[in-house]
Amino acid sequence: MRQYWLQLATRITPRTGAYIGGAFTAAASGATLPSHNPATGELIAEVAACGPADVDVAVTAARDAFDAGAWSRADPASRKAVLLRLAELISEHRDELALLDSLDMGRLVADTHDIDVPFAASLFRWYGEALDKLYGEIAPTGSGDLALVGRAPLGVIGAVVPWNFPLDMATWKLAPALAAGNSVVLKPAEQSPLSALRLAELATEAGLPDGVLNVVPGYGDPAGKALGLHPDVDSIAFTGSTDVGKLFLRYAAESNLKQVWPECGGKSPNLVFADADLDAAAEAACAGIFANQGEVCSANSRLLVAREIHEDLLARVVATAKDYAPGDPLDPASRMGALVDEAHTQRVLDYIDVGRREARLACGGARVEGPGCFVEPTVFDDVSPDVRIAREEIFGPVLCVTPFDTEDEAIALANGSGYGLAASVWTPDLSRALRVSDALRVGTVSVNTVDALSAQTPFGGFGQSGYGRDLSLHALEKYTGRKTTWIKH
Ligand code: NAD
Repeated sequence: MRQYWLQLATRITPRTGAYIGGAFTAAASGATLPSHNPATGELIAEVAACGPADVDVAVTAARDAFDAGAWSRADPASRKAVLLRLAELISEHRDELALLDSLDMGRLVADTHDIDVPFAASLFRWYGEALDKLYGEIAPTGSGDLALVGRAPLGVIGAVVPWNFPLDMATWKLAPALAAGNSVVLKPAEQSPLSALRLAELATEAGLPDGVLNVVPGYGDPAGKALGLHPDVDSIAFTGSTDVGKLFLRYAAESNLKQVWPECGGKSPNLVFADADLDAAAEAACAGIFANQGEVCSANSRLLVAREIHEDLLARVVATAKDYAPGDPLDPASRMGALVDEAHTQRVLDYIDVGRREARLACGGARVEGPGCFVEPTVFDDVSPDVRIAREEIFGPVLCVTPFDTEDEAIALANGSGYGLAASVWTPDLSRALRVSDALRVGTVSVNTVDALSAQTPFGGFGQSGYGRDLSLHALEKYTGRKTTWIKH
């Protein structure tokens, strides 16, 4: 199987231009940015590095397409047909898209192939199916008046996304934004632009009119910043770090008061009570932090354990962590891939050094020798809640274990974070599960599992995790504005 992926890698041609108005084009400045494979260090492609001039052309193309109405005013049934066809094309190009993401950012190809690409296809299908089943309202006004309350697409959406699940993070924005009739200018992360460029091309093949979906690869500053400041962008759908999420709020205030939907970082707690199924909890605790090398916004990075089972659970977690030895992302036997790039690898290793001073290293802690950005699954025990590794988002395969004595203490520890994206709770006691879930200030609580999410359920956070919501009909709604038409008769 590894051989298959290696051979496929020699046959695919990454798209490298910006995708504007239905065609690939170089950046106006001619600048490019390198896309490296973090598992090998090899250069995969030089991709257009867009700047304000390119963003402006893309926004103009998006606005022109919106105003022309071929998409924004198309019958719901015909928009649906295009999105369903796009879902089919994504499935037909499953191997190629899966490989592009794996090569670009180090995620296991088994996961991009089995999870990410099917999920992206399913989301275009889900929103395509949803869009012709939404009805408007008639307001309860007096006789002689008829007030119709509907939804209108917002116009031009700027989508700015991170590198940790490149295809899916883009799709979480694109599928509902396009379903609602908007035009989009997407800025993928500079580390992982390749799948987004191919996706845009497939969207054209599916029948999306030119200019409705544009992709401007480039660095955050200037490309993301130019989108955030652009006076003709109506809304920014952002996923990324909290610091950059705050910048987009500032860009909006300094420009045209565009709506901003920030989906930001996390430091999610995983609470394991003494009556939990410890085998299942240990397996999930490891999956919750080591899957995708811990580069997951909702990663279960803080394991809060009832003191009476602390030693027992820790031993199981350490034993299971060893199964996550990092390896070649193209090898189906690997359980963990490469971190996204050298700079991020250094950042994670710096946190591990901080952790050695702040807590007790239970396992891992080293970079794997040889080429590539591989870091061992790492567990710190007896982590005090106020130290840096317990408070700051590491975004790598680093788990912090902290024991607790009472349910109230567990809740206080869990909520004692500026972030509020997700949490997990392990107990067979339904009353406790619901009581604790009610008390947790997070967007999603997974009970007796980790990272529960689906197309049908909203995903997003509280506090410094931002307040945007992706997925579900709630996400579709945020790409529309409520609109009243009042008729006197
Ligand atoms: P990042 O904030 O560095 O970058 C995100 C995007 O913003 C990229 O496209 C980047 O180019 C752009 N950007 C960077 N600086 C910018 C600037 N000055 N102006 C405008 N745009 C700029 O985040 P990242 O390192 O790509 O991703 C990791 C972060 O994303 C983590 O904090 C993680 O928790 C978060 N994340 C959140 C979710 C969620 O749904 N809440 C999902 C995935 C990742």
